[in-house]
Parts: sequence; C-alpha cells; structure tokens
Amino acid sequence: MRMTLEQAIQKYGPIVDGVWANEAKFCSLLEIPSDIGGEWINSATGLGVTHIYVNNDMQAPLLQALNNVKDRGLLGELHSFDGCLMIRAVRGQPGNLSCHAYGLAIDLDASDNQMGTAGTLSPEFVKCFTDEGFTWGGTFHTRTDPMHFSLAWE
Ligand SMILES: [Zn+2]
Repeated sequence: MRMTLEQAIQKYGPIVDGVWANEAKFCSLLEIPSDIGGEWINSATGLGVTHIYVNNDMQAPLLQALNNVKDRGLLGELHSFDGCLMIRAVRGQPGNLSCHAYGLAIDLDASDNQMGTAGTLSPEFVKCFTDEGFTWGGTFHTRTDPMHFSLAWE
C-alpha cells in the first residue's frame, strides 16, 4: 500500500511553514551511473544528470527503475530531469502537501508531459517505474500529470 501523507509525517516528521526539519536525516544525493545520466539533462542546470537529491527510501527503487529504462533500451525517451525534492503543495491544491515535499516523487520530460495532457512517454517506459512500485501521474483521475512518478500518496 502506498504511504499516505499522515504516515509520511509520522515517519519523516512534519513540514512546518515550508521547512522540513528532518530533511538532512532522510534525504541524500543518489549518484546516477554515467551511462544513464549522460543521456539525460537536468533542466535546472542544462547539464547531464550526475546526482539526484532524494529521500533515502526512494533511492533503491529509483535506481532500479532507471536501470530498467537502460536495460529495456528506452534511454532515448529520457530527456530531462525536472525535480524531485520540492517542498510545496500539490499544484492547484493549496494546503495539500505534494509527495515531492518529502522527496518521494520525480518529474521527467516535463516539457512534453504537462499536466492535463496524455504526455509522450511510452507504456514500456512507464512500466520501468511501475514495476518498482511507482505510481504514474498519467493515470490520475482529477488531472493527469504524466511527468510525475511517485512512491507515495500523489
Ligand atoms: Zn511531480
């Protein structure tokens, strides 16, 4: 079962006024192997992806999902990294904390996979992540978010 916001608060501590006091305890830099990261641009820097700052609980599944992408010959679909840990609410839902706030979600290929669209990621690419326990935002009912892969509530 996916972690709920209440469970995240219990496990990782609260986020108060945009500050997660326990962040350094639960997040760290995940090194991205160069044969994966070199194919992929961090949209914030314009450079290849060498590290991703992420919740420690997401490191193993994220690395495995990326290895799935490589092993299944789908690296050509991986264009940009568009954020992981971002302390904010769900877009358009103020007061409803996004699981990005705990570093439990990642956004990929944002420019081609905007909210409310079907996006461009293939079902095979999506499966690389869902096989490792991620939920894909492309199936959200209220509003699709195809750039978004999450290990928790939203
Ligand atoms: Zn997202």
